[in-house]
Amino acid sequence: MIVYVRGNAGENGIASLGDYINGLGGSFHRAYLFEKTFFVVSGIDMEQTCEHPAIEKIFRPGTPYQLAHRELNPEGTAVAVGGAVIGDGCVSVIAGPCSVENKQQLSEIAGFVKSAGAEVLRGGAYKLRTSPYTFQGLGEEGLKILKEVSEENNIPVVTEFTDTRDADLLFQYADIIQIGTRNSLNFPLLQLAGEMGKPVLLKRGQSSTVEEFLMASEHILSRGNSQVILCERGIRTFEDATRNTLDISAIPILKRATHLPVIADPSHAAGDSYLVPALALAAIAAGADGIMVEVHSAPQAALSDSGQALSFSQFSDMMENINKITGAFGKAAHAPLRGAER
Ligand code: PEP
Ligand code: MN
Repeated sequence: MIVYVRGNAGENGIASLGDYINGLGGSFHRAYLFEKTFFVVSGIDMEQTCEHPAIEKIFRPGTPYQLAHRELNPEGTAVAVGGAVIGDGCVSVIAGPCSVENKQQLSEIAGFVKSAGAEVLRGGAYKLRTSPYTFQGLGEEGLKILKEVSEENNIPVVTEFTDTRDADLLFQYADIIQIGTRNSLNFPLLQLAGEMGKPVLLKRGQSSTVEEFLMASEHILSRGNSQVILCERGIRTFEDATRNTLDISAIPILKRATHLPVIADPSHAAGDSYLVPALALAAIAAGADGIMVEVHSAPQAALSDSGQALSFSQFSDMMENINKITGAFGKAAHAPLRGAER
């Protein structure tokens, strides 16, 4: 249950409301979102007893997720960062390599994807790999390269936050903090990401239900950060023809359930580059606010996820096709999505 606190309640009114709820035998979590104070109340039903002067209104979501509920911001939350906007009704494209490998590699890819219409550059510096013997990422050096390339190309960057001990570094170098599928149930990491004051791109856990996915976002929102982008990246199913199964249904389900923007990552869902454009188009047709894809200047030589990286020409072709379909779904692209020089 969510209590909307009156804007003029003041700290005294808020404290008094807290005492009032505790006095009724309930507990509450205070969160400040959309320039408003909310109390997420548990343990009591305040239906009969909402007389306190600090209460503006009471909302019962009827779902375990509360602050993520669409009703909290019915027109939808847009995430704005470094000139990019995700969730404003347009289709946004986030693109880049799986891993930052070196400055030259990232510069080349950044220049290309930006010229073809990508709004955000992706690239992992800390890679959580299934095998401890494969490339684990450049770490801090990778973050520095990301920042340099971001500034040189005037494009914001998203990179994965894998360990609470790296919070200061991520804060310093990243524009958007990514929480990967493997950490989508790492609640201390989610909460810290919520406290960093930067937008968060949250991947769906590979075995999470839609509700568990939304509850993961709730850990970020409960820390007062409404700038969360949800990313459907495929789930584990019995099907082994693809790396994961892109859950297309989750996109309209999430769009209805929550105010947060929803994007899809067809690269990690597919695991094979030839499938990526088709899944990207399907996700946009299903209502996604954008896509995140892996692109590499020399896909076969990529140090991680080489099989799913789009070549420059595959990326250009996909962007042309995205451009063709966005209008048909009442959407637009921020920048013209076009095939750049190949
Ligand atoms: C990634 O986007 O770099 C990544 C590792 O994705 P996921 O967490 O979805 O596997
Ligand atoms: Mn990858």
